[in-house]
Amino acid sequence: MNTRRNFLAQLVVTAATPALLCSKLLGQTPAPVKLEESDPMATALGYKEDSAKVDAAKYAQHKADQKCSGCALYQGKAGEANGPCAAFGGKLVLAGGWCAAFAKKPEAAK
Ligand code: SF4
Repeated sequence: MNTRRNFLAQLVVTAATPALLCSKLLGQTPAPVKLEESDPMATALGYKEDSAKVDAAKYAQHKADQKCSGCALYQGKAGEANGPCAAFGGKLVLAGGWCAAFAKKPEAAK
């Protein structure tokens, strides 16, 4: 009985292992990670989740109407709260955020 139970347990492990390995090897896309303001790269570029909270003294180029959703590097869909940013390796930034790498989207692409 105990031998039969061991055999069945080994059978389950043996059958499940290839499926688990295949899902890992086939590169199922991991869930996007949110960019934190405390991230060293975010800090270096002055990223703020709220564009209104950008340090105006440090980033004189910042304008009140500049937000991630209007940036050429923003890959989120219009109307969504956040989206991947090309400047931060696809990490999620808030649509209302901003950083010093801001590059205005061409008008037609908004
Ligand atoms: S590069 Fe553009 S989309 Fe990315 S965080 Fe900076 S302002 Fe936002």
